[in-house]
Amino acid sequence: MTRKLSLLRTKLNDTHTQIQQLLPDFKARQPLLPGSLYTLKRRCGKPNCHCVEGPLHTSTVLSYRGEQKPRTMTPPADQIDALENMTDDYRDFRKARAQVVRLQRQMLEHVDQIQTLRVQQGERNFRKIRFDSSYAHSRR
Ligand SMILES: [Zn+2]
Repeated sequence: MTRKLSLLRTKLNDTHTQIQQLLPDFKARQPLLPGSLYTLKRRCGKPNCHCVEGPLHTSTVLSYRGEQKPRTMTPPADQIDALENMTDDYRDFRKARAQVVRLQRQMLEHVDQIQTLRVQQGERNFRKIRFDSSYAHSRR
C-alpha cells in the first residue's frame, strides 16, 4: 500500500507540473479572436475567365465565431496577419483549457485514490486501539 501511495504522490506531482506548464498560455496578454482563417477556392462564373479550366480564384476568409451564428467575411489583405495571430492564439488557448480540464480530472482521481488508501490505514490503526469504555458508561 505504501508503494501504491508513493506512486500516487508522484502522479499528483506530475499532473501539477503539467498544469503549471500551461499557465503561460492563460497569463499571456495577446488579444484572442474566436474564429479561423481559411482559403476559399472558387470559380467566378465569368465564361471567359482562366478559372473555367485553369487555377481557381483564391481568397482568405475569416470564419468568426464570436456571435451565436458563425459569420464568414473577407478581411482586408493588410489585416490578415493580425487576424491570423489572434485566431491562432485563441485556438492555442482553447487547447490549453481543454488540457487543464483533463488534468484537473486526473488530479482529482489521484486525490480520491490517496484518500481511500489513507483512510484504510487510519481504520487499521483505529481497530488496534483498545478504547476505554468508562466514558460511555458515565453518560447513562
Ligand atoms: Zn474566374
